[in-house]
This record gives sequence, C-alpha cells and structure tokens, in this order.
Amino acid sequence: MMTKKKLTILGATGSIGLNTLDVVARHPDRYEVVALTGHRQIERLYELCLAHRPRYAVVGHAEDAVQLAERLAAAGLATEVKNGPRALEEVASLPEVDAVMAAIVGAAGLAPTLAAVRAGKQVLLANKEALVMAGHLFMAEVRAHGATLLPIDSEHNAVFQSLPAYYAGDAEREGVSKILLTASGGPFRTLPLERLASVTPEEACAHPNWSMGRKISVDSATMMNKGLEVIEARWLFNLAPQQIEVVIHPQSVVHSLVQYVDGSVLAELGNPDMRTPIAHALAWPERIDAGVAPLDLPAIARLDFEAPDLARFPCLGLAYRALAAGGDAAVVLNAANEVAVAAFLDGKLPFLGIAKVIAATLDALPPAPLPHLAAVFAADARARQVAAHHVERFEK
Ligand code: NAD
Ligand code: MG
Repeated sequence: MMTKKKLTILGATGSIGLNTLDVVARHPDRYEVVALTGHRQIERLYELCLAHRPRYAVVGHAEDAVQLAERLAAAGLATEVKNGPRALEEVASLPEVDAVMAAIVGAAGLAPTLAAVRAGKQVLLANKEALVMAGHLFMAEVRAHGATLLPIDSEHNAVFQSLPAYYAGDAEREGVSKILLTASGGPFRTLPLERLASVTPEEACAHPNWSMGRKISVDSATMMNKGLEVIEARWLFNLAPQQIEVVIHPQSVVHSLVQYVDGSVLAELGNPDMRTPIAHALAWPERIDAGVAPLDLPAIARLDFEAPDLARFPCLGLAYRALAAGGDAAVVLNAANEVAVAAFLDGKLPFLGIAKVIAATLDALPPAPLPHLAAVFAADARARQVAAHHVERFEK
C-alpha cells in the first residue's frame, strides 16, 4: 500500500477548495485530509468535515468554532475545531502534513501560506495575492526553507507544465524568450463601452468560461486578475516584466504558452476546469484522473486570439505600472483593488470606479522599499485606508 499524502486545505469552502476536495475524493487511496479551513460558511464546512473527517477544522470566529465543535462531536467526529489567523498558520505547518493547498482569497491568505512555506511544505498555490504582495520576500522564504511551490492558477500551471521540468528561474539559460498569459477577457470583453458604467455585481460575476469566487470573478471582469497574474508570474518564474505578455483568448482552452528563442511555442490546453491544474499539482510529478471531460477540438472548432484593449481594461495597465514601480507598489495595488472590489460588490462603487480608486491610491502613495514582511503588512494597511477614503469620496 502506498503511503497517503496528508493535506491541509486552506479555504476549503471556496471554489478552489471544493474543486480540490472533488479531486481528493476520487483518490481515497492517495490522499488524506488532515485539516480544513473556512471563514464563515460553517454549514458547508460541517458537511465537508462529515465527508472528509479531518483531524482539525479552522473557522474565522470563536462563536462559530464552539457551534461547529458541538455539531461535529454530536455526529461522532473527533475533529478539533480552532479559530482565527494563528490557527490557520498552525494547521498550515503541522509536522504530519505533506502538502498545503493555499486557497484563501486575498491578503488574508499571505500569512498562512507563508507558514506552510516556512515549514518546508509542498505548497499548492492558488492564493496569487500572496505573491503579488510579498514577491521576492516570499520566494526567498521558499528557497530558505526548501519548500516546493506548485502553481494552481491555470495560466501559471500551464507555464509550469510548458517549461523544462528542471526550470529553476534562469530563463536565458533555458532559452525562454517570453511567456504569454491567456485571458478570456471576462464577461465585458465585447460590451459597448458606454454600458460599463452601469454593470451590476451579478453581471460582473457571470464569467463566460469559469465558475469562481466573487472577488476573482470581478477581477476577471476588470482584467485586474490578469494584472495580478502578470506580477505572480514575474516572481514564480523570475522573468522581467517585458517577458510577460497578455493575450486575449475567449475560449479559455489554451491556458498559457512559453516561447523559446528557437521559435518554438509550447502550451498546455484543456477544458476550462480548475480540477486539471489541481490534480496536476496534487499528483506531481505523477498524473491522476481529475474527473475532467476530455478536450474535443472539433467541437470547439476554433481558437481566437487578440491583443488586450487597455482603454477597456485600465486595471491591466495599472498592474504593469505597479510592477515597473517596484517596492511596495504591488501591495498598494492589491490592497486598493480588494477595497474597491468589496465596495463594488456592496453596491457602494460603480464598476468604472474600481480602476479610478486604485489609480488614486497608487498616486497618493509613492513606492517605498519592502525590506521585510512587516513592511508588507504596514503598506497593505496604509493602502486600505487611502483606498477606503477614495471610495467614500466617490460616493458623494
Ligand atoms: P472563494 O471566495 O470561492 O473562496 C475563498 C475561501 O477563502 C473560502 O474558503 C473562504 O472561507 C476563505 N476566506 C475568505 N476570507 C478569509 C479570511 N479573512 N480568513 C480566512 N479565510 C478566508 O475564492 P476562490 O475563487 O476559491 O479563490 C481562492 C484563491 O484562488 C484566490 O486567491 C483566487 O485568486 C485564486 N484562484 C481561484 C481560481 C478559481 O477558479 N476560483 C482560479 C485561479 C486562482
Ligand atoms: Mg488564472
């Protein structure tokens, strides 16, 4: 019998978390769930605990922890329930855990993901915001602690699969000239520009190809998601910003490409289903069934590509601007985006206000160096205040 890989799933109740557990459930001989976390969706976490019987469960708030613990005990489970940010770091670094799925959304994922890195785990990285915020500090911790980073973001997973297996961040030596990150263009790719001013959160969250959490769905509609992914790729693969190109590909079948100096372009293709990159990372370097329908190219018939329109998608330009500025600019970009997207989802900011709030926040905070992680969290807090102020001014 093979020894099972022991897993912690941070953000188990979200879209990536549920897809991860779907793949895990197909391979009970291979994986064992040690810890599951969910912030507020206690009912869903309860169901997941019944199905996967983890040793630990972590929720956001103490009252919810008490209630969940009682219900799990009544159901005959020995799951220990904890709460709060420290508990997330604890379950991300348990000695018995082999791999951690980092699938919390936003800046809240940074500290627990880093805890997994510092414990030298295999880290399945969905939480792109961690790399956007902490970039080189995060990668330095990966090297210092011998952690293994496996990208879950479909584009980065595709690039990872299209690079040489031994790629260690030296693009020149491997003959890599650039990478192309594909983007669907989201739900508003062809919407008349004058309609953008009045689009609703529901319209923004109705992604044509992917079913995802609400924050990343809005990020896809503004294309800030692609901007964050450019920054994520810069750190994951140690590329210069000008080596990272974005191309719109509405079918989401080509998940990204690597171009080599000899003119070869390698890509990973598949149906748009996150269980593919999740299964790839869970089993790496082996392959397992992900439950994904095989690709039917004749049925898809055509694959289209076009350059992104920065007038329609100003957030993409803002991300390149933050990357070029360096220092804490990407932290400011990410924090302002989180504040603006939350305000949009709350009906407090129009869709076009998202880019404006981010630009105003970047203008107000000139880039400062990021010597250590404390500076990352300080810059994040400062930028949230400034962005919240700009959201309020927008309301009047
Ligand atoms: P989601 O909103 O569906 O789920 C988010 C998860 O994070 C939930 O389990 C929630 O309980 C948890 N969470 C939220 N706030 C928290 C907090 N303050 N503390 C602790 N836990 C908290 O999001 P998602 O779509 O699954 O995305 C998760 C991450 O994966 C994001 O960083 C996203 O950018 C990335 N990602 C998602 C997809 C996708 O297809 N959904 C694709 C690529 C990358
Ligand atoms: Mg992606």
